[in-house]
Amino acid sequence: MANDSNRFQAIISHAKEYGFVFPSSEIYDGLQAVYDYGQWGSELKKNIKDYWWESMTRMYENIVGIDAAIFMHPTTWKASGHVDNFNDPMIDNKDSKKRYRVDHLIEGYAEEQSATGNEQLAKDVLAQMDALLAKDDFAGLKKLIEDNKIKCAVSGTANWTDIRQFNLMFSTEFGSTESSEIPPSGGGGANKVYLRPETAQGIFVNFLNVQKTGRMKIPFGIAQIGKAFRNEIVARQFIFRMREFEQMEMQFFIQPGTQKQWYEYWKEERLKWHLALGFGKEQYRFHDHVKLAHYADAACDIEFNFPIGFKEVEGIHSRTDFDLKQHQEYSKKKMQYFDNDIDPATNKPYGNYIPYVIETSIGLDRMFLLVLSAAYEEQDLSTPEKQDSRVVLKFPAKLAPMKLAILPLLKKDGLPEIGRKLMDDCRTSFRCFYEEKDAIGKRYRRMDAIGTPFCVTIDHQTKEDNTVTIRYRDTMQQERIPLDKVKEIVQAAIM
Ligand code: ATP
Repeated sequence: MANDSNRFQAIISHAKEYGFVFPSSEIYDGLQAVYDYGQWGSELKKNIKDYWWESMTRMYENIVGIDAAIFMHPTTWKASGHVDNFNDPMIDNKDSKKRYRVDHLIEGYAEEQSATGNEQLAKDVLAQMDALLAKDDFAGLKKLIEDNKIKCAVSGTANWTDIRQFNLMFSTEFGSTESSEIPPSGGGGANKVYLRPETAQGIFVNFLNVQKTGRMKIPFGIAQIGKAFRNEIVARQFIFRMREFEQMEMQFFIQPGTQKQWYEYWKEERLKWHLALGFGKEQYRFHDHVKLAHYADAACDIEFNFPIGFKEVEGIHSRTDFDLKQHQEYSKKKMQYFDNDIDPATNKPYGNYIPYVIETSIGLDRMFLLVLSAAYEEQDLSTPEKQDSRVVLKFPAKLAPMKLAILPLLKKDGLPEIGRKLMDDCRTSFRCFYEEKDAIGKRYRRMDAIGTPFCVTIDHQTKEDNTVTIRYRDTMQQERIPLDKVKEIVQAAIM
C-alpha cells in the first residue's frame, strides 16, 4: 500500500496505466510539463468542465459564457501588464546549471526543515521570504538563501547566480514574416504574438460586446473555459504545473466600492462548489496572498490537500478596474458602463464608470488532479484465507468517466442479447461500458480502477424473472434489482 510519500507516484502510474493521462509525445521521450488525456481522462476532464460550466452559467442568471480566441492583439498584453510584469524571480545554480523559481526553492527548504522538526525556523524563513517578495528585494532574497545555506538538489552546492526576472509568456510569429499582419494599434508593426497566459483578457476585451448585445446589467459575469500557456520554469509535479493547460475563469463586473462584499461573496460561493463534491471540508483551506499581483487589491487561493501538500487549486482576485482602465487607455475605446442606480454615498445616479471586477480562476487540469487524488484509494481486502487488494477511484458519480458497466456472466444462452438491449436503452442518457470477457471478479476490479460507480451482471436468473445483480463500487455490495430499474438508479446518482 502506498504511504504518503509515494502515493503521488502511485496516482501518476495509475493515471497512465488506466488511460487517464499520458506524457505528451511519449514515443519521443515526452515533452516536459506537457500531457495528453487518454480515453478515460478526457471523459473525466469533460465532466469536470461541464460541472463548472453548468454551475457557473446556468445557476446564476446574470452570468453568461464566451469562447474567445487564444491569439490576441499583442497590445492586449502590453495593456494588461503581462509584457512588463508577468515574471517570476529565478536563480541558477552555477554548478548544476539548474534553474529554480526563488519562492519554490525557499519553500522546499522550509518544508524540509518542518519535516525534520524545525517548524519555527521554517515559519520564520517563509515569513521573511513573503516580506522580501512583496518588496521585490532580490538582494535580500539571495541573502536569505545564502544565510540558510540552501543547496541545489542536483549539485548539492550553494553556488548561486544573482536573482533575475523571467517572463513566462510564450510568443510566436503571426502570418508571413515579410510584412506586418497585425494592425498597428498601440505601436504594432511586428509579427510577434503571444499565446495567452490567462483566459481573462479575452473576457475584458469583449466586456462591452457582451454587455451591449446581451443587455447585461451590472452586476454581471462572463465565464470562459480555454487553454492558457505559461513557460513555467519549475515544471514538475505532473499535471499540477503544466506549460499548456486549461483555465475556467469568471469575471464578475460590479459597481466601484462594492468589491469587498462581492469578493467575500465569491469566496463563499466557490468554496461551496468545491464542497458539493463531497471530498471533505477539512481538505480545503483559504490562503490570503501577501504579495498581490499588479492588478489586485485583494486575493486569495482555495487550497486543497493534494498528495504533495496543501496547494492552490483556485484563485479569487479582486482585480479593481485595472484591466478595463488599461484597455481603455491603450485602445482609446471607452470601457464605461452607464448606471441609473442610485449611489448611496451621493444619493445621485452612479452615471458612467469603469466597472470593478472580481475574478474566480480555477485550473481545469489542477481540478482534474484534485479529483483524481481525492478519489484514489488502495484497499487491502485480505481475509485469513486469501490475500487480496484493490485500487478504486471513488469519483462522484456525476464526474465518473463511465457510469455503468454491463456485464453478462456468460457469452452465451441469450445473456449478451439482454445486455446489449440494456446498453441501447442507456447509452443515449449516459456513458456505459459493455464487456463479456474474463471472470466477473476481474471485470469488477477493472471497473473499480477507472471509477465506474455501478456494475450490472446479467445471469440465467435474469431470463427467468427479469432481475439483475447491481454492484456498488464503493461498498462492493451487491443487490438483486429489476432490470428496468437500472437506468433510473444510475440517472438519479448522476443528477
Ligand atoms: P501558481 O502560484 O501555482 O503558479 P498562479 O497563482 O500563478 O499559480 P493564477 O494566475 O491565479 O495562478 O491562475 C489561476 C489558476 O490557474 C490556478 O489556481 C491554477 O489552478 C491554474 N494554473 C495556473 N498556472 C498553471 C499551470 N502552470 N498548470 C496548471 N494549472 C495552472
